[in-house]
Amino acid sequence: MVRYGELSTKGKNRKDFIKQLGRNVRAVLHPFPTLEVKAQRDRLHVALHDENDKQVIAALQGVFGIENFYPSVQIDKDMDVIKKTVLQMAQEQYTPGATFKINTRRQDKSFEYDTNQINNILGDHVLSNIDGISVDVKHPDISIRVEIRMNGAFISSEIIHGAGGLPVGTGGRATMMLSGGIDSPVATYLAMKRGVKIDMIHFYSPPYTSEQALNKAKQLTSVLAKYSGNIQFIQVPFTEVQETIKEKVPEGYLMTIQRRMMLRIAAKITQNRHCSGVFTGEALGQVASQTLESMQAINDVTTMPVLRPLVSMDKEDIIKISKDINTFDLSILPFEDCCTIFTPPAPKTRPSLEKSRKFEGYIDVEGLMKRAIDGIQITDIKAGQEFMNQDQDVFAELL
Ligand code: ATP
Ligand code: MG
Repeated sequence: MVRYGELSTKGKNRKDFIKQLGRNVRAVLHPFPTLEVKAQRDRLHVALHDENDKQVIAALQGVFGIENFYPSVQIDKDMDVIKKTVLQMAQEQYTPGATFKINTRRQDKSFEYDTNQINNILGDHVLSNIDGISVDVKHPDISIRVEIRMNGAFISSEIIHGAGGLPVGTGGRATMMLSGGIDSPVATYLAMKRGVKIDMIHFYSPPYTSEQALNKAKQLTSVLAKYSGNIQFIQVPFTEVQETIKEKVPEGYLMTIQRRMMLRIAAKITQNRHCSGVFTGEALGQVASQTLESMQAINDVTTMPVLRPLVSMDKEDIIKISKDINTFDLSILPFEDCCTIFTPPAPKTRPSLEKSRKFEGYIDVEGLMKRAIDGIQITDIKAGQEFMNQDQDVFAELL
């Protein structure tokens, strides 16, 4: 039995949210074709038969829009059956001296007993059948939840925390500028958590960047697909742009102009795909390109919203999330990113807007953009898909 998260506050959008959550739950439970998923007004039910419940629980924990869920047994609304089931659950969990509590909710107001009566009847039944057990309503060791609903009685003794947030797909579509670093995968996770459906944009520069660096970005995408379903991965060839900038632009502005070109191209792809914003993994003050002045000089190239979920976070907190979502170990694999290769030893931390515009005039912006966009390749990436098999030995060494 799944309880909705923030959904409940969403008024008239509620129906759409529930429908989308139902679709997302069905998608992650796709490997279990015998399951039934019923998305109802105030609860979502996943009815299991003989499926592996641990795997089902793990899959549900990755779905945004779920506040928490209760592994429950569904039985007839018959007091004798309910008593038997509750007692059995209490016995299974009982350790000497343990305390318990019965917590009843009644949706079906036509049921013959009210909430207090049900609590009392079931409490008495447990007390008189398990020696040494006692009631503690504040901090019970065993908490048994009974829900009398229209479609049956649901008994559970465990609450599992969900991922929170909003169902992916209810917050529109956007692109994410994904590097192979620590930050952008975390930013992706946070964007998805607010319901946004993400397409990945990754710049690569062969032969300066390796096949392994590209596979690493794809592998990160497959880890993140666990939270959103399949993700479109758009790889953009960036070699010509970088070589041209290196040749034509003064060294202090290499980084700023590269970033401007990246954002121009990303914004164009975003617009072409009818997405409404570009997410990045930037945080204020981390590196030269991430000062406020730098952001201003880079953001100058587009009116598309540029969204930075990590902007005010400390690195330590970002790393903590990246460990929680299983992207950290991949992110720290040391493959050259296209940005690191052409980074001058001393990039300007306070680039001027005028100079950025002027130096960009030294290159053929439109032509470079067009050729980069003509060269994109798109891969549809599934959760858990493997891209690094062939490199396993290399990784074993690195890790
Ligand atoms: P990250 O850990 O995400 O790489 P970072 O702290 O290393 O971030 P930068 O390398 O300066 O910072 O990159 C800043 C942001 O620019 C990244 O978070 C990402 O959104 C974007 N970016 C950097 N490199 C690429 C790339 N090769 N392809 C797409 N986006 C990129
Ligand atoms: Mg980086």
